[in-house]
Amino acid sequence: MDRLKTYIAENEEWLKECILAYVKKHGSTPDAIAEEWPDFFSGIVGTMPSPVHSDQEQRKEDVLRLFQSLDTPALILSDSFEISAANKAAINTLSLGDDFLATSASMAVADLVPWLADCVQEFFPGERDVGSVCRMDVAAPMIYGEKYFSVSVSKFSEVVAGFSGYILTLEDISFRVETEKQLSRERNRVAHYLDVVGSIILAQDASGAITMVNRTGSEHLGYAENELLGQNWIDLMVPVEQRDEVRDYFYMIFSGQTEIDDEYTNYVVAKDGRHRLVHWQNRVLTNEGGNVIGVLSSGMDVTEKRAMEEALSEKELWLRNTFVALGETVLILTPDWNVLDANPAAEILFGMTNEELSELSLLELHVDRPHYAEFLVKSQAAFDKGEKAQFEMALRRSDGTLFPADHSVSLILGDDGLALGIVNVIRDISARKKAEQVLQESEEKFRRIFESIEEGYMVTDLAGDVQMVNPATCRLLGYEESDLLGKSIDSLYSIKDERMHLRRQLVEKGAIRGVQVQARRKDGSSIVVEANTHLIRNESGNAVAMEGTFRDITDRIEAEGILKEREKQYRAFFENNHAIMLLVDPRTERIIDANPAASDFYGYSVDDMRDMTMGSINALTQDEIFREMQLSRQEGRSYFIMKHILVNGDIRDVEVYSGPIMVQGKQRLYSVIHDVTQRIRLEQKMKRLATTDGLTGVNNRHNFFVLGSRELVRAKRYKNPLAVLMLDIDYFKSINDTHGHQTGDLVLRMLAAASTTTLRETDIFGRLGGEEFAVILPETGLQEGLEAAERLREVYAGLEARVEESVVTFTVSIGTTVVRTSDRTIEEVLNRADEALYKAKRMGRNRVERG
Ligand code: GH3
Ligand code: MG
Ligand code: MG
Repeated sequence: MDRLKTYIAENEEWLKECILAYVKKHGSTPDAIAEEWPDFFSGIVGTMPSPVHSDQEQRKEDVLRLFQSLDTPALILSDSFEISAANKAAINTLSLGDDFLATSASMAVADLVPWLADCVQEFFPGERDVGSVCRMDVAAPMIYGEKYFSVSVSKFSEVVAGFSGYILTLEDISFRVETEKQLSRERNRVAHYLDVVGSIILAQDASGAITMVNRTGSEHLGYAENELLGQNWIDLMVPVEQRDEVRDYFYMIFSGQTEIDDEYTNYVVAKDGRHRLVHWQNRVLTNEGGNVIGVLSSGMDVTEKRAMEEALSEKELWLRNTFVALGETVLILTPDWNVLDANPAAEILFGMTNEELSELSLLELHVDRPHYAEFLVKSQAAFDKGEKAQFEMALRRSDGTLFPADHSVSLILGDDGLALGIVNVIRDISARKKAEQVLQESEEKFRRIFESIEEGYMVTDLAGDVQMVNPATCRLLGYEESDLLGKSIDSLYSIKDERMHLRRQLVEKGAIRGVQVQARRKDGSSIVVEANTHLIRNESGNAVAMEGTFRDITDRIEAEGILKEREKQYRAFFENNHAIMLLVDPRTERIIDANPAASDFYGYSVDDMRDMTMGSINALTQDEIFREMQLSRQEGRSYFIMKHILVNGDIRDVEVYSGPIMVQGKQRLYSVIHDVTQRIRLEQKMKRLATTDGLTGVNNRHNFFVLGSRELVRAKRYKNPLAVLMLDIDYFKSINDTHGHQTGDLVLRMLAAASTTTLRETDIFGRLGGEEFAVILPETGLQEGLEAAERLREVYAGLEARVEESVVTFTVSIGTTVVRTSDRTIEEVLNRADEALYKAKRMGRNRVERG
């Protein structure tokens, strides 16, 4: 405590100052402080002079303190608008300078802050109630730019604390003013923009009522702005049939079920009733809470555009159809020569699909790179002149084959003049090329014919003066071409009458074919020519010239003469010949001609025979004829042996001698027929006599040995068995003796007949002499041979020869043997059989023995 007292005592002066400062600051008194802390300050305060304040002073001090502490810039002005006081904020804001406070002299506002003076002036003239506040916004030019202040001036109600006059406060509203200015500028701009913008701007609230429309909108729709505002735009403008759809759409927007930004196209009906198609871009308007409060729509009238698009797409469709349906091949190329599209005709021509073509470089359709380069150069050259290119150039198919093509290449320019693409129309001209080639060849051919033909060719004018001749004419007539040109054709006729006749005929008929005339050669000699000639007429049908061809037929005429002579000779020979002669068409077998001898032989008239074919006189079948032809060839014969049938049905053997002959240019078969019936019958008879036995008709001894030898050879070659029988009638002598020789002969014939019927076709039966017979059995072994012999023996034993009243029977003994490898001749075999026969005789007859 003492220490505190000491401290206080020692620092009394400093503490007094502190107390005063505190008092000043807090509006307290030193006594009040001493009362609060008596122990500390009572001593000191008692010595301190209590600050003396009159009420007025106190209040002034309070006001000033308050005034100074204000953050708001404030000035106290006298009645005559002199600045009595300025607070720190005012000094700073108005840049009055730090020493402002120091100068106590009042200064006129107008001097210090001119812009404030104006404001005050404004305020001043009016009668102002005490306490009323006048406020105005003022722009203040500052050294660093313009500021805005809201200036409030109020009049003191009384003389307060020595002040009278006004208090003026400044509120810095620069930021607000700037913002507002900017906002209003923005608004203006938007309003302006909305008004000048070409699209319809329409805002609607959630109920669909129009809250805003721009000038374009109202002008376009034909309504005044006030006719639109507040109206439900759907009811007002959307056609009835589309209303539900549009309502649904906006319901979706308002309920947040569709994109915030969305596009929509619908019809609106303008006030004048016109339907306009409007493409809207809708933007949802939301409040701070995120709720949809409206939609801002920007609409473009696309009525015309859509119509144009439709027309365009229709045109495009049409073009596309044409492109597709076109028979001509069309390639659409990009401006840089790539295939963009190809029509079906192109697909067929190149053998590729559109896709394949589109992926292809155009180069690949060309023959090679130089061709392609030439194609580009030609096309470009035409494009440069603003024309389309047309030329011929071969192309390549997918299979590599080339074909000549006619090209039309045109550049398609857009409205802006830029290339859109290139159209390459291609025509396969193979056929045309071929035709051209054929034509060229045919012209060439004609020229060659003209020069090289043997036939003369000549053109004269109507007067008959030669205009044109070919080399053959000169050759045939012995003239040079120069001799003939201009020469009258009349001098080329040998006979004047012929000339006149020909000329008359030509004039009458216009053409003459195959006429024979005598032509005079340069050397005076004549040739016979066959001429064809006709008038050449112009397009109106009037004759302008004569044209003719002719050939020398002198030789032919001569040959014909000779031929005619020969023909005569031939006919005489043919007609008068006793040999039967036929002229036949080998192709049809038709009888062309027959001579009287043939007519006599066959019994038909010559005329009838000319209507017949060889088929009707041939008695052999086709197969038989064919066989005979082969045989004839094999035997090297010059004739065929045929059988011909006569009109009375008789069949005659004939030898036909045939040879080809040309008669009047036609191939004919000339046949001479010999009737050999008699001869053949005789031959056959003689042959039969030579080989058969006269009494029994079976093989005679000689023929039996011939046939037997043949069988032996065959049996040995094929190693086939072969049986041989020898037969002898028992006691034949007594048959003769008892019944007579004729009965004996009858027995012999009966035996032969029974044998041939009992034996096989292939067996050979023969009479060797007297009552001795033999049989050869091919392909027969010993056992079978014995069986055959036994069978025969039994047959013979059963035979009965009836002579007058008596019946004669007889028996036969048979010797049987087979061929052995050692046998060389048929005689050897027969000898062995003979031995066996005699064995049978010895052993009692009517039996079979083997040997
Ligand atoms: P076998 O043979 O049984 O010993 O007694 P055979 O009487 O038959 O004996 P042979 O062979 O000697 O007699 C053959 C007779 O056949 C002799 C002859 O008169 C008779 N003859 C021969 N050729 C003919 C003929 O062509 N006609 C007739 N009627 N008899 C004939
Ligand atoms: Mg006998
Ligand atoms: Mg005998």
